[in-house]
Amino acid sequence: MEKLIIIGSGPAGLTAAIYSARADLGPIVLEGDTPGGQLLWTTQVENFPGFDQGVLGPALMQKMQKQAKQFGAKLVSEIVQSVDFKYRPFKVVTLAKTYQAEAIIVASGARPRMLGLKNEKKFLGKGIHTCATCDGAFYRGKEVIVIGGGDSAVEEATFITKFAKKVYLIHRKDSFSASDIMQKRALGDSKIEFVWNSEITAYLGQERLESVELLNRQTGQKTVRKIDGLFLAVGHIPNTEPFLGQLKFAKHDYLEVSNQVFSDVPGVFVAGDVADWRYRQAVTAAGLGCMAALEAEKYLAGLAKDMP
Ligand code: NAP
Repeated sequence: MEKLIIIGSGPAGLTAAIYSARADLGPIVLEGDTPGGQLLWTTQVENFPGFDQGVLGPALMQKMQKQAKQFGAKLVSEIVQSVDFKYRPFKVVTLAKTYQAEAIIVASGARPRMLGLKNEKKFLGKGIHTCATCDGAFYRGKEVIVIGGGDSAVEEATFITKFAKKVYLIHRKDSFSASDIMQKRALGDSKIEFVWNSEITAYLGQERLESVELLNRQTGQKTVRKIDGLFLAVGHIPNTEPFLGQLKFAKHDYLEVSNQVFSDVPGVFVAGDVADWRYRQAVTAAGLGCMAALEAEKYLAGLAKDMP
């Protein structure tokens, strides 16, 4: 029987581990299939406070792992298959075993939706990116592509014009689903060129992305476009599959939270991108991990009163 199990090992899960380990809760962190989370797929991180020279995503996560371990957190490389939050103690089932715990922090994150084309994984962080806020600044004076037609794509395209000299916003339809105000902003931006009814059919390059093959879905014509970088903004998929029927869901399969980190089950807390479609930053995830750990500590001490 554990006091606290943390599901997920990105900035939210590991910050929760650091705080709860320092509070002597001896947390078990079930790391999932990507120990370290989404930052493993980035290169330089320049916006995490405290690193004035920037830090490589994987290096930052190694530091967090080490920091959590040194206070007594146990990091276990297992993937959660299912949970039972209906009865106490809570149960968390992995392929290896069934864990039981008095409290849980769900920090299982989200994964960016990908196009599923050849070389996509290979070029991730090497010309292909999934977060403009994180990596847009690397394309100062360059030409980039943004893919998608929702709020993220339109917002990211507009954001990248701060740095890039040209942004091609490529969408497979002839209209956006993004909100009117964001569309207007993008449509009025002379640095953005709109490429409608088009999709990427191949990523080309040796060590990094150099160009893409584009298909015009109306004419059937294929062209090759040389490009410095490409941002995928075709949505995210929250890692909530094991919690279906166990926790309350919000829209788009994210977990519902109240007061930032409370799930609808007392004793189960939520932190990071698994409930956050809006900010999705390492630093916000870390902050939410801290909050979840502090609330879990109060709950375990029997001090939780009127929240949420
Ligand atoms: P989204 O609304 O699901 O839009 C995804 C876009 O990607 C759609 O245009 C979709 O095209 C396209 N797409 C999906 N799969 C594709 C594929 N395989 N190839 C090419 N295109 C593909 O995702 P999102 O823009 O990330 O937004 C998610 C949620 O966050 C929304 O509720 C949004 O309002 C919210 N959000 C809000 C803000 C804000 O308020 N500041 C900012 C970002 C996001 P189709 O239309 O053809 O399916």
